[in-house]
Amino acid sequence: MTAPRLEIDLDKILHNAATLVSRLNDREISVTGITKAMLGAPVLANTLLAAGVAGLGDSRIENIERMREAGISAPITLIRSPMISQSSRVVANANVSLNTEMDVIQNLSAAAKDRGLNHGVVLMLELGDLREGIMPGDLEDIVRKTIQLPNITLAGIGTNLACRSGVSPDHQNMAELSKLTDSIEAKFGIDLKIVSGGNSANLNWVTDENHPMRINNLRLGESILLGREPLHRQPIEGLYTDAIALIAEVIETKVKPKQPWGKFAQNAFGTVSPKQDFDSASKQNILQSILAIGNQDTDSTGLQMPFGVTTLGASSDHLIVDTGKVAFPPGTEMVMYPNYNGLVRAMISPFVAKLWKPAEIQEFSSHATHVTGIDRGSIQPTTPTTR
Ligand SMILES: *Cc1c(COP(=O)(O)O)cnc(C)c1O
Repeated sequence: MTAPRLEIDLDKILHNAATLVSRLNDREISVTGITKAMLGAPVLANTLLAAGVAGLGDSRIENIERMREAGISAPITLIRSPMISQSSRVVANANVSLNTEMDVIQNLSAAAKDRGLNHGVVLMLELGDLREGIMPGDLEDIVRKTIQLPNITLAGIGTNLACRSGVSPDHQNMAELSKLTDSIEAKFGIDLKIVSGGNSANLNWVTDENHPMRINNLRLGESILLGREPLHRQPIEGLYTDAIALIAEVIETKVKPKQPWGKFAQNAFGTVSPKQDFDSASKQNILQSILAIGNQDTDSTGLQMPFGVTTLGASSDHLIVDTGKVAFPPGTEMVMYPNYNGLVRAMISPFVAKLWKPAEIQEFSSHATHVTGIDRGSIQPTTPTTR
C-alpha cells in the first residue's frame, strides 16, 4: 500500500465527537466542530454533524468553500478574523464569523448588503492569551457600532485562550466573559445567543464541576480528533487517542555507530551537532533505520513512536530512528501517532496519502464522492503490529 499515509478512523472520531457533544449538552453547552486540522474535509464534516455538533467551524475560507461545494448546508463559522479582501467570500459561505475589528465588520456589512444576505458576527474578547480579541474596555463601543450596521446580526461574544501563550481557561476569565455578556445585554436590551467560551483547552474547566455560567458554546477540534486536552495533552476519559495514525516505510536498516564522526559544521538546517565526547558511548553501535518521511511531511518531534523505537533526528525527507533490539528490514511499515502539529503538516503534504476508514453513518456515502484525490480503500492491518 502507498506510504507514507494517514489512516483516519472516522468511527473513532464519530465516537469522540458524540461523547463530547453529549457531555457538554448535559451542561447546556453546544459544540462547534472545528475542521481546520483536516482542511475542511467533507467526510470529517459529515461525521461531526452525525455526532450532533450544532455547527462547523474552520479558520480558512478555502476550507469552508470546499465544504459548501460538497453540499454541506449546516451552519459554518469562520473562526479566524476575516481578511477584508475576502469579505465577499466570507458572507457568501460562512453564516457567522469571529471578529475584533470595526473596519472588517463594516466591510462584511457592505458585502452582505451587496449579496442580499445577513451575516452573523461574534465579537471576540481579549482575556489574557494575547492573540485575537477586543480589550474588554472597548467592547461596548464596538457593540454599539455593530448593532447599527445593515445586514449584520450581533450573534454573540466569545474568547480564545491557551493558543498563543498557554493561558488556561479558569473560573476567573470565564466569569469575566459571563459578566460582560450580562452587562452588554442589559445595556443594549439585546440577547446574545452565542457565548463561546473557547476551544478544547476549556474542557478541563467544564468538567471540573464548575458551573458554566453564561458559556453556552465551545469550539472543539483537537479533542475530537486526538482524544486529548491541549493544556497537558492528557487523554480524555472515554475517548480514542488513536483515531489517526501516520504510517511510513523503512528504506534503510543498518548497524551504525551511535555517534557521528569527522569535523562538525552546520547541518542542512543550520545547526551544529553538539560536541561529541569520544568516550565509550561513541564506539557503541545501534540498530538504525531510516523512514521515508521527513519534516516536509510532518513534525518529526510530534510523533509517538512504536514501543522500543526512539527518534534520533530528521531532515526534510528522512526520519532516523533507533529501533532497539528489533531490526526492521526495508519495506517494513511503521505506525506512528501524530500530535496536532504532526497531523496538520501531514494533512497538508501532497506526499502523504489520506486513507479514510468510513464511519458507519448514512450521511457519509452521499458526500464521499466529492472528496477527490483521496483513496477510500479499506484499511489493511500493517506489519509489524508495533502499536
Ligand atoms: C483552532 C481554534 C479552535 C479549536 O481549537 P482546538 O484546540 O483544536 O479545539 C477554536 N477556536 C479558534 C478561534 C481557533 O483558532
